[in-house]
Amino acid sequence: MVKSEGVHKYFGRLEVLKGIDLEVMPGEVMCVIGPSGSGKSTFLRCINHLEKLTAGKLWVDGELVGYRQKGDKLHELRDNEVAAKRREIGMVFQRFNLFPHMTVCENVMEAPIQVKGVAKAKARERALALLERVGLADKPKAYPRELSGGQQQRVAIARALAMDPKLMLFDEPTSALDPELVGEVLAVMRQLAEDGMTMVVVTHEMGFAKEVGDSLVFMDGGVVVEQGSPRDVISNPQHERTKAFLGKVL
Ligand code: ATP
Ligand code: MG
Repeated sequence: MVKSEGVHKYFGRLEVLKGIDLEVMPGEVMCVIGPSGSGKSTFLRCINHLEKLTAGKLWVDGELVGYRQKGDKLHELRDNEVAAKRREIGMVFQRFNLFPHMTVCENVMEAPIQVKGVAKAKARERALALLERVGLADKPKAYPRELSGGQQQRVAIARALAMDPKLMLFDEPTSALDPELVGEVLAVMRQLAEDGMTMVVVTHEMGFAKEVGDSLVFMDGGVVVEQGSPRDVISNPQHERTKAFLGKVL
């Protein structure tokens, strides 16, 4: 579903990704850990067409990110084509960024109506089903400010799912939450994984990585230092840098 070959990213002269090789198969959950500034968010943003690669190749669902092939020539995607691609990917951030002036249900209905032209009644029906799926069947009429952080993050997940993404990206979805609210968000993500969603999750929740992740990637300084099954990486890290990092987060 996602394949990365030698992905490099520079911001000016700063090399943030120094050749990332990774693969996520359909239905798999890849968890990504690593110190601040190691390039985790930048890599997710590359997958989601929010950053342009400087070099290397990245595929989502077999299609090269940023380009379209015509004969044996590659053409850069136009803005509207990029927007269409981005709609196939759901992204959930640390901050939930819900529309404050809309109810929970309206937040979830908005993109399908505006972007896909789904009829309002149909969008509402789907939104209510998604809210039930994230455990918020009783909150469709609430406004974001009336919800806890954990509830808002679950709305953000429902909102992403409303676009029927083929891939979900999570960038530290629980790190802005009070500790007692983390579990309810991870439970929704775990259910999503069990339902077969392909997911790339940047998280320092090692319990989640161990139990839900099919693979665990440790990034540092713009490179993948180590990757493997979460159990192996956590209990038997091969690199000093991984050991030192795990010592801090476990
Ligand atoms: P964190 O754990 O703090 O979220 P991260 O691993 O997600 O860190 P990134 O956000 O990917 O790290 O940032 C990697 C590096 O790229 C950092 O040095 C950051 O300052 C730099 N960077 C990120 N975005 C930009 C940008 N738009 N312009 C310039 N530099 C950037
Ligand atoms: Mg980040």
